[in-house]
Amino acid sequence: MPAASARTLFVTTALPYANGPFHIGHIMEYIQGDIWVRFQRMQGNSVHFVCADDTHGAPIMLKAESEGVSPESLIAGVAESHRRDWARYLISFDTTHTTHSAENVELAQSIFRALNRRGLIATRTIAQFYDPIKGMFLPDRYIKGTCPKCGAKDQFGDACEVCGSTYAPTDLIDPYSTLTGAPPELRESEHLFFRLSAPEVVDYLKRWTTAPAPRQTLQPEVFNKVQEWLGDEGKLLADWDISRDAPYFGIEIPDQPPGAPKKYFYVWLDAPIGYLAALKHHFDSGAARALGETRSFDAFLDDPAVEQFHFIGKDIVYFHTLFWPAMLHFSGRKTPTNVFVHGFITFSGEKMSKSRGTGISPQRYMDLGLDPEWLRYYIAAKLNARVEDLDFGPDDFVARVNSDLIGKYVNIASRAATFVTRHFGGALGTPSESPADRESRFETAQREAEAARANYEAREFGKVLRDAMRIADRINEAFDAAQPWNLAKDVGQRDRLQTICTQALEGFQLLTVMLAPVLPQVASRVARELFGLSRDFVWSDASKAPTRVNAFRHLMTRVDPKQMDALLDLQPDATLAAATPPSQGATTEAAAESTQERSATGTASTQTRSEITIDEFGRIDLRIARIVSAEAVEGADKLVKLTLDIGEDAPRTVFAGIKSAYPPAALVGRLTPMVANLAPRKMRFGVSEGMVLAASGAGPGIYLLAPDAGAQPGMRVK
Ligand SMILES: [Zn+2]
Repeated sequence: MPAASARTLFVTTALPYANGPFHIGHIMEYIQGDIWVRFQRMQGNSVHFVCADDTHGAPIMLKAESEGVSPESLIAGVAESHRRDWARYLISFDTTHTTHSAENVELAQSIFRALNRRGLIATRTIAQFYDPIKGMFLPDRYIKGTCPKCGAKDQFGDACEVCGSTYAPTDLIDPYSTLTGAPPELRESEHLFFRLSAPEVVDYLKRWTTAPAPRQTLQPEVFNKVQEWLGDEGKLLADWDISRDAPYFGIEIPDQPPGAPKKYFYVWLDAPIGYLAALKHHFDSGAARALGETRSFDAFLDDPAVEQFHFIGKDIVYFHTLFWPAMLHFSGRKTPTNVFVHGFITFSGEKMSKSRGTGISPQRYMDLGLDPEWLRYYIAAKLNARVEDLDFGPDDFVARVNSDLIGKYVNIASRAATFVTRHFGGALGTPSESPADRESRFETAQREAEAARANYEAREFGKVLRDAMRIADRINEAFDAAQPWNLAKDVGQRDRLQTICTQALEGFQLLTVMLAPVLPQVASRVARELFGLSRDFVWSDASKAPTRVNAFRHLMTRVDPKQMDALLDLQPDATLAAATPPSQGATTEAAAESTQERSATGTASTQTRSEITIDEFGRIDLRIARIVSAEAVEGADKLVKLTLDIGEDAPRTVFAGIKSAYPPAALVGRLTPMVANLAPRKMRFGVSEGMVLAASGAGPGIYLLAPDAGAQPGMRVK
């Protein structure tokens, strides 16, 4: 990699608050940042990727108190959980640290002093609610009372959840402290403010948010929001209250008058400074040197060529586009090159909510043994450069992992490598390909790698993966069209067989390089085990021709939809359990159109049924059906609504209790036998016009029947 063109990057994700384990939104952000960073490293760029726990503030102080532990001990326990999950999800931070550290105290105090010297710190007296029993000033969220607008009781100090109006805590009727229940007293206290509304600060922020520097273009949604906040000459900007009175778990504000009560930095002042504290720790611990960075922390940050990027969620844009660049600039420090803002993660179109039982626990995901690279792939497939929410759909997850990742990508290597090791001792080559064809294929690969490079750089991960799947389709189609299993039977076709398999494996290498930032473990195994390299892939491997392959070893398993059910904590399917004969082998039984029906037929299947005549069997009109469409049924966890083509003028609708075994998307296009002359049944969700057939046995699992290749919709089964 040419050193002259290599970039040096300082990259962070937002610092997680140290009051509990990660939720899925955190993991999404780490995956986004990590993919981008791994991509940059593959380009030969020098990256310093750091994170830290955000440990200060009233919520942590009060939570520690309620658990009867010190704040230090609370945050140490949380830090352990955070580190474990970062490792489990393959997040490749170079250094992780904490805002409760000597580096952060030093940096926060030095930045504060510099702002004070610039005349940007003001002192004002404010009146604030105080809990006389607890002996502390109350943050807004620890005050409740009756809404002054609609009279709803027990509303928070800043907004009413019933009528939606916002107000100051002092507007509440009959306010009380949520800590002690005591009516709070209004007390005066001196607070320190960062003068965000000072003309030079507003001027600077206007410049920072519009600067046409390379790679410093805010996303349009972010830019518009910031312009709104900056308003006309920044008149809308309020000075920022950066102090809190004791007792507070935080960093003490230096240089206060002797004898005055202690003051602390508001947690939101020292939290972003934690980015720099983590970076300083990264340098002081020798980790930066181990990455080849020989400069000091200060020299590194003084270099204008060093690029600084922060990945954040849309809820903290204000802090990162106004407070943070202003604090850095006016204390004489490097400012962020850009902030990359993402949306939230929703679950089946709804906001995730623990109390409503929707959503996914990232800890449970790992504890159940689900593969972190499945989630990395799924999230990457849905990420783009915009500030958009991303939806997690369980069926969609299963379909994408199984059909794209396994069915399209992994499949290429498992099929092609087997021929090459069996027939050519692992040697790759394209003896039957013309030099012109080879050259053209090579150019296509270069073009595709370049498109992926540009999309990764722009954080358009979804585009990269869509292109990768198109390439995988092309490789699989060419491979199938050549019928290597037939070529292998003919000695005269050896060259052709080797060529076909080598083309597929070269394509597989290109795909693996493209997917490496998303699937670091799989890519590393492909590089080392399959292609026999002594290192991981770098980007320039995308269009190189490998010369050998080793025997294919299993790379990745499919998701079992039951793992999804366990993740979502669904109750085991009670009806299915009842329908399952305890000691009998697999029996064919109807996956009936309703779960009630299932249990009825199932119970009967424990006994050998009474004999019927061939005529009686002949009364059942069994037909081959093609599943034209399949969709989940709202309000029925187990049902899939199938639209079936059996060669009639109009398609049939059948409700089948097979959702636990098949995500609807995976069913479309399949052929299956159906009972075509079953009397229509009116169900809660519509009329079911038949029944499809599936097998089940003593264990869990439902298996839809399928005819051999060649069967056509409408054919009779007899
Ligand atoms: Zn209200």
